[in-house]
Amino acid sequence: MTGTHFSRLRDDFPLLARLVRGRRLAYLDSAATTQKPNEVIEALRRYYLEDNANTHRGVHFLSDRATDLYEAARERVRRFVNAARADEIVFVRGTTEAINLVAATFGRACLRVGDEIVVSAMEHHSNIVPWQIACEQAGAGLRVVPIGDDGEFLFEEFEKLIGPRTRLVAVTHVSNALGTVTPVRRIVERAHAAGVPVLLDGAQAVAHAAVDVQALDCDFYAFSGHKLYAPMGIGVLYGKAEWLARLPPYQGGGHMIRDVTFERTEYDAPPRKYEAGTPNVEGAVGLAAALDYVERIGMAAIGEHEAALLDYATARVGEIDGLRVIGTAREKGAILSFVVDGFTAQEVGTVLDRHGVAVRSGHHCALPAMRRFGVEGTARASFALYNNREDVDQLIEALRAVRR
Ligand code: PMP
Repeated sequence: MTGTHFSRLRDDFPLLARLVRGRRLAYLDSAATTQKPNEVIEALRRYYLEDNANTHRGVHFLSDRATDLYEAARERVRRFVNAARADEIVFVRGTTEAINLVAATFGRACLRVGDEIVVSAMEHHSNIVPWQIACEQAGAGLRVVPIGDDGEFLFEEFEKLIGPRTRLVAVTHVSNALGTVTPVRRIVERAHAAGVPVLLDGAQAVAHAAVDVQALDCDFYAFSGHKLYAPMGIGVLYGKAEWLARLPPYQGGGHMIRDVTFERTEYDAPPRKYEAGTPNVEGAVGLAAALDYVERIGMAAIGEHEAALLDYATARVGEIDGLRVIGTAREKGAILSFVVDGFTAQEVGTVLDRHGVAVRSGHHCALPAMRRFGVEGTARASFALYNNREDVDQLIEALRAVRR
């Protein structure tokens, strides 16, 4: 698709047509969650009108149908991230559950007293706290890669932290608080050279660029559907087949077993081994529809559109006195975090809201990153495929009102 088509994409998202506080809505909070296109909303409606049942293959027509849709969605996700096999795709609630799944199972199977997990100083709490819990249980510890004043991941410091006790590296692909794109390929290469597996938090990456887990060669990759135009409550853990075969189950229950007696239980093969209980078929169907939608537009085109908007917004916020951008890495995702002298992030967000501008204000579940920059929070504008220059202009106009 060419750039001109992007101006029409806003119309695919019915919610964006509503007025907020009497104003046109400038929705600049897609890093928190994206709005949903008609196509996804329709897929959900169709699922409940025509296909809903629980997934127990071979029991009855609708059950087969729901099972087929669920497994087709798995194959759709496989293709989206270019995994080698569909059984490397585990459906979960979201990034948070994906990381908890790995931290809990890897922790039980592989972490011992004195071992170390390496994370970075820009991680979301969901890529810190699960590892702390796992470390606490095993008597292991966290090592933290520092970040530069511009928000860059300090690769040389990372290399120094990899040692004989390192058991796993868990870093974000794109920082939700700063926008930094981390050098994931080099991180994986360096960790693998030391025999250390890598988990990447892709929550802020997948909606903005094509992700190829085989090219990245990461061991685990986690993301949430709701930041990718899909419903809440569905997400993905990609795990290399060797790891999913080797790690123990996360939760026990129905759908994840081959046989149960009171003496012992035989688990099903991955990915079902990790999907205890009734699955989120509706969510998987919605996610598949969302992937069809974004791939029809083209991930590269989406990335270019958002990068151009970020450049425009970064230049224009320079017009606002006392505004400081937090996170100025060379390579950034579609995120612009900032503070305004003399105002809290909350105050900035409240004034913007009155102008119909939706941004996130606060610590973005990344308190260590905020403290690194000496702030308790920032206002954060984040961009998606449906945003345009008019949204940025509305933001700038509202920021002038903050100053007044
Ligand atoms: N990691 C990052 C980088 C995020 O931005 C988020 C969402 N803000 C998460 C993890 C957690 O995602 P979820 O709440 O969808 O589980």
